[in-house]
Amino acid sequence: PPSPRSGPIDRAARARRLAGNNAAVEVKQLRKSYGSQNVLDGIDLTVRAGEIVALLGPSGSGKSTLLRCINRLEGWQDGTIRVGGRFLGSDEDGRPLSPRVTAQMRASVGVGMVFQQFNLFGHLTARENIAGPLRWVQGLSRLDADRRAQELLDRVGLAHRADALPRHLSGGQQQRVAIARAVAPGPAVLLLDEPTSALDPELVGEVLEVIRRLAVEEGLAMIISTHQLRFAGEVADRIVFLAEGTVIEQGPAEQILRAPSHPLTARFLSTMN
Ligand code: ADP
Ligand code: MG
Repeated sequence: PPSPRSGPIDRAARARRLAGNNAAVEVKQLRKSYGSQNVLDGIDLTVRAGEIVALLGPSGSGKSTLLRCINRLEGWQDGTIRVGGRFLGSDEDGRPLSPRVTAQMRASVGVGMVFQQFNLFGHLTARENIAGPLRWVQGLSRLDADRRAQELLDRVGLAHRADALPRHLSGGQQQRVAIARAVAPGPAVLLLDEPTSALDPELVGEVLEVIRRLAVEEGLAMIISTHQLRFAGEVADRIVFLAEGTVIEQGPAEQILRAPSHPLTARFLSTMN
């Protein structure tokens, strides 16, 4: 089905919505290494409620690792991360919690994630991929979960594919199901890790359009790692540029794209166009 193009982002409306809002994600002096390699080397990053941040940077700069740490899919050596004011996956004294308790905490804090490789349950239909977690984690009844799943599938233009297994869907359709699944519980924060980079070029647009619509219609904060510069310029409030595990530059999207101040940013951007 055709995906209707939404209008331009109303930045003034967004600015009003953001005004005075609290931090949705707060990363302080985050350090993570694999062996002797410092993958994240003192990251500071605050994302406000409702703010949309594009995370740019060369391959290997630490984008995926940062997003995985924020969602507590990884541990780290030093620094703190708060999501919705809480230390995700840790108790008051900083001791790690079990995976099950961490999953419940993700649900109550309201953080969802979309992966490069979709990560759908291959043996479940599109509807069950969304409805299942709503029952298992959120505790919804079958009826409510199915209703919510159908509503979300409709919003990503896939109501007619509800009974299809992932292998019978295109990559773009699979990623739209994955986005619907991440959004279904109504998260306050959505992390998207290169959501279009596993897709054939002709399927990128439909997925970006779904994300763009979420950005316009929902008040959720998003951190999106992407190589889609034009998309980042249109949708993001702010661009954060990562290189070798540090934030080397950040600012309003149009400013970073038009006039980057760090030579690494300038070089990276010139290779992208
Ligand atoms: P990006 O997403 O920006 O491409 P990553 O976060 O995937 O970067 O990787 C950052 C660095 O960490 C890379 O040098 C990568 O090789 C390394 N790395 C990532 N995951 C692991 C891992 N599980 N074990 C060892 N090294 C890793
Ligand atoms: Mg990555």
